[in-house]
Amino acid sequence: MTLTGEEVAHLHEQYVLQPWAKQGAPATPIKRAEGIYFWDYDGNRYADMSSQMVCSNLGHQNKVVVEAIKRQADELCYIAPSFAVEPRGKLAKLLVDIAGADHFQRVFFTLGGSDSNENAIEIARFYTGRPKILSCYRSYHGSTLGSAFASGDWRRFAYEVGGAAPSFIHFLNPSVYEDGFDRTEEDEARCTRQYLRQLEEQIRYEGPETIAAVLMESIVGANGVLIPPKGYMEGVAKLCRDNGILLICDEVMAGFARSGKMFTWQNFDLVPDLITFAKGVTGATVPLGGVIASKEISAFFENHPLPCGLTYSGHPLACAAGVAATQYYLDNDICGHVKQLEGVLKPALEEFVQRHACVGEARCIGLFAALTLVTDKSTRELMAPYHTSNGRMPAIFAELKRRGFYTFGRESNLNVCPPLIITEDELREQLATLDDVLAWADRKFCNA
Ligand code: PLP
Repeated sequence: MTLTGEEVAHLHEQYVLQPWAKQGAPATPIKRAEGIYFWDYDGNRYADMSSQMVCSNLGHQNKVVVEAIKRQADELCYIAPSFAVEPRGKLAKLLVDIAGADHFQRVFFTLGGSDSNENAIEIARFYTGRPKILSCYRSYHGSTLGSAFASGDWRRFAYEVGGAAPSFIHFLNPSVYEDGFDRTEEDEARCTRQYLRQLEEQIRYEGPETIAAVLMESIVGANGVLIPPKGYMEGVAKLCRDNGILLICDEVMAGFARSGKMFTWQNFDLVPDLITFAKGVTGATVPLGGVIASKEISAFFENHPLPCGLTYSGHPLACAAGVAATQYYLDNDICGHVKQLEGVLKPALEEFVQRHACVGEARCIGLFAALTLVTDKSTRELMAPYHTSNGRMPAIFAELKRRGFYTFGRESNLNVCPPLIITEDELREQLATLDDVLAWADRKFCNA
């Protein structure tokens, strides 16, 4: 028996515990999805301008990936991680080759982003014999216990009911615009110097010999696509190197062609020791994540048992989806396409800064973009000052959705992260809608 949209919504509202939300709130029932669009039960079409949770990178229902899942399901759905199975090995090799086989060697597979970070933390502690994990305040690394403790945004408070876990130390990372800097060469250099100096001091006070790893998003995603000032990431990598601290780059959101490179750290002059990934690896068709380990770390575990294990590590269905999706990025030069469309998205968003009273800053690399919304540009007064809810951002998201443009954002940020297969015409059409809604927000919320 097929349910109506109302019945689907009712079941969800009554029986599903909704993440990060008060329960019982209405949820739009969704019927189907294809390409950059999804449809509700009333036939309303939404352009998916966030790729859901920045994961449906290859659009919805990508036929190549769906077919690969079906083929694998017909042959072998599951076999324990200790057995060798074609898609698992193939995907590990593909990922190592993409990350750079001169530096990386092995992959531990997980089920998603949170547990990829969780396991990277365990690997780093075991390998170094040191307890502490340093991570950024402006960050999100997941919602399992360890990854939540490592996260910096306020969602981690939920986990600190019994007190914050020892050995998870936070440091402040730059948010150029909100910190009052401009994107000039001079200001970026000043910002980089200021933040690196603070981190260096913090490492000194914590004691380098107690720190296993610095865990960072290669570019902070959920907290507003915070493109770091020039030289910052390289500076952090150097501080790690100089102090024998591992660098873990969290590529869960930023990875898989989002920034125009397969991994976002590849935009910087650095090489991490561990890379965590999830989301885009299967284009969100099947849950999968993992940790790519350097040669040194991989070699270490030839003499020590790996302290990690999951029943579904390297699940064949997920790995088959992973091989098909990863190969799809490469065969279709998705990175090239993303770079080309960056040439449309970035100038359009920068123009919004000029034309709209409510747009304070635009940040864009590849198809990874966000706007910071303000009520007053001269003072940089944020649309929703940190950790407050005045209803303005939800109203803007609702107005966008009403007009068929779906996206999300945290605090005062509005993310624009469409599926990477979006065409130029589709992108321009959606930017026109965004333009209209920003004009509406100018009138409704801005002082000027
Ligand atoms: N790391 C980053 C950078 C993320 O953006 C997310 C989720 O958005 C996670 C980790 C957690 O991933 P998951 O929700 O798949 O557990």
